[in-house]
Amino acid sequence: LTILGLESSCDDTAAAIIRQSGTDAPEILASVVHGQTELHAPFGGVVPEIAARAHAEKLDICIEEALAASNLTLPEIDAIAVTAGPGLIGGVLSGVMCAKGLATGLAIPLVGVNHLAGHALTPRLTDQITFPYLMLLVSGGHCQFLIAHGPESFSRLGGTIDDAPGEAFDKTARLLGLPQPGGPSVQAEAEKGDPKRFRFPRPLLDRPGCDMSFSGLKTALLRARDAVIAEKGGLTKQDRADLCAGFQSAVVDVLAEKTRRALELYLAENPGKPVLAVAGGVAANTAIRARLETICAENVTTFTAPPLHLCTDNAAMIAYAGLERFRAGAKDDMTLSARPRWPLDKTAPALLGSGK
Ligand code: ATP
Ligand code: FE
Repeated sequence: LTILGLESSCDDTAAAIIRQSGTDAPEILASVVHGQTELHAPFGGVVPEIAARAHAEKLDICIEEALAASNLTLPEIDAIAVTAGPGLIGGVLSGVMCAKGLATGLAIPLVGVNHLAGHALTPRLTDQITFPYLMLLVSGGHCQFLIAHGPESFSRLGGTIDDAPGEAFDKTARLLGLPQPGGPSVQAEAEKGDPKRFRFPRPLLDRPGCDMSFSGLKTALLRARDAVIAEKGGLTKQDRADLCAGFQSAVVDVLAEKTRRALELYLAENPGKPVLAVAGGVAANTAIRARLETICAENVTTFTAPPLHLCTDNAAMIAYAGLERFRAGAKDDMTLSARPRWPLDKTAPALLGSGK
């Protein structure tokens, strides 16, 4: 089965082709990503209208590049998978309309995919891990602990009650004049800084459960930055690095402690399947990966994290999630709609688990 996946829910336009024969490991034949960072740079954040237009302009180019890279032609594609939400509605619509056109023109099945399921199933694409497993999904707009029972079956143990860590990294970068996306630039600065100089809050650690909060962190960072500026008239390179190090170590501490608790809850129910997988853009952070790895080692649990380019938005994860849905018998038709909000756990309260 050869499946073409399309992703356009935020500020990356992507197309990928995946092939799986029988029970063999799935193979990524091509994964093309065109980012829009420069387009949004002058505005300090993603502008939905600009994003949607750029997706509409770039989708066909991504598809052509993915076909060329995998040495295939459109008639050799067996099914189309597309992100149908959650995300910026204009972008999601561009992808869904493109996918509907292709599926109709080629007379092949269409499968709508939840973008978060794409992130959450990535460890199955990269490491063939089997269900169930504990997933920490930590990205630009989301942060939650999920037990993955099946391709469309997730139960939520807890998550952020306000911002997602990715958002916090991006805001930190903005406050310190570092380039977007904030994650990689804050991480690079943090590696040069002293994490002990600024002590930022670790919210909700005093409360039981796996819920987290990251919105207070940016206020604390803003205050610390302004105090330094008031004292010295500006920020030195070292001030910036120390602020980043202090911020990142607070995020790492919160994620680590809550992961420890989520793992305890998960292992109580699934003692025979000690696996923690992490996914989403923030899972690209090396300090976070290292700390989670330590927690897993302490709890005799297997740790798995996708390679960095499959943590941030890509279409390989969408093609793969589509393949899993398709294999499970799911299929969509021309009534497939674009959904700006779409919690992964159908029983989750609407306000929890989503920072967007
Ligand atoms: P969502 O998946 O929740 O809809 P999204 O698709 O915008 O949101 P992703 O592409 O999964 O998010 O992740 C992007 C986020 O990951 C950005 O906020 C970015 O700053 C963050 N990020 C990327 N690399 C790193 C890193 N090394 N450290 C921390 N954060 C990172
Ligand atoms: Fe994402």
